[in-house]
Amino acid sequence: MKVLVTGAAGFIGYHVSRKLAASGNADVLGIDNLNDYYPAALKRARLAQLEAHKNFRFIQADFSDAAAYGGIHANFQPDYVVHLGAQAGVRYSIENPAAYVQSNITGFLNVLEAARAHPPRHLVYASSSSVYGAGARIPFSEDQAADRPLSFYGATKRADELIAHSYAHIHGLALTGLRFFTVYGPWGRPDMAPVIFSKAITEEKPLRLFNEGRSLRDFTYIDDIVDGVLKVLLYPFAQNTDAAPGEPAAAPSRIFNIGHNRPVEVRLFVQMLETLLGKKARIELLPPQPGDMPETCASLARIHAAVGFEPKTPLEDGLARFVEWFKAYYTHSQ
Ligand code: NAD
Repeated sequence: MKVLVTGAAGFIGYHVSRKLAASGNADVLGIDNLNDYYPAALKRARLAQLEAHKNFRFIQADFSDAAAYGGIHANFQPDYVVHLGAQAGVRYSIENPAAYVQSNITGFLNVLEAARAHPPRHLVYASSSSVYGAGARIPFSEDQAADRPLSFYGATKRADELIAHSYAHIHGLALTGLRFFTVYGPWGRPDMAPVIFSKAITEEKPLRLFNEGRSLRDFTYIDDIVDGVLKVLLYPFAQNTDAAPGEPAAAPSRIFNIGHNRPVEVRLFVQMLETLLGKKARIELLPPQPGDMPETCASLARIHAAVGFEPKTPLEDGLARFVEWFKAYYTHSQ
């Protein structure tokens, strides 16, 4: 099978591409524009690992360029598309909204238009726990309203879900949105808490804890995310689970959470890192940041019922694997 993975040089795209390429059952084409939201050296290091697989190929391209991306999709004619490329990050979206419109709205539309011209069997795309905004009930379940995002990033992800829903119905495309919950693990993003905190602890610099470290996050290990993505991608399905009564079910349009369902206070997360790194953090307690959610927790009932997904990695084990990679990568690359 031919699988096109966008954002293949990114954190999750790298892991999904690696798993697919290592399976031996897939020809994987990775697309990424290698933007400098965070150091491209990390993206190139991930790609170097992927390029060791003979069934992985990479093209540097920007999917906000409709002609360039459409040409790549048309040439490859993928059976499956895993769309993981995006402008990520909650805080950055406050000052840089245009970057989110370009990649997450215009870019997403280009990905759907390319799929419309040469339909894959299934296209899955990354959404986010950030779509659950003010007033969402814990645990977050997919059937509650998600129309009050607290960040602009969350608003663009919710817009993607709505756009996908309309494309599934109008054009008969099989589209599934995956709401990921705070993903961590080896090769993780340098703008996210695990790397930021581990650097601060290692370098004995102040570690800033917003909301005084009392926010709860449903940290989800990368291997569990990959498992969920591939289970959903390849699972045969026939019905439109997201259709309202009376709405045509021309093609499936679905949304699933992929999380851990075990939220942990961020200050406890820091204590676990201190133990693993063998150093105390210099903690600075700060008030909540705009756009941040006080708690995230995924209900996994829907994805469990549909594809049997269950997260397998306890935070202790996943963090130990993350810290092992962190020490090796940051010692080697500094
Ligand atoms: P990432 O930033 O590491 O990866 C995204 C990749 O997309 C980057 O390599 C970037 O260069 C590429 N990209 C961005 N705009 C592009 C464009 N216009 N054309 C081509 N490539 C482009 O992020 P990630 O953590 O791997 O996240 C993957 C997806 O999952 C994103 O959609 C993100 O919003 C979503 N998500 C991630 C998390 C998490 O905790 N990591 C949580 C919820 C949702």
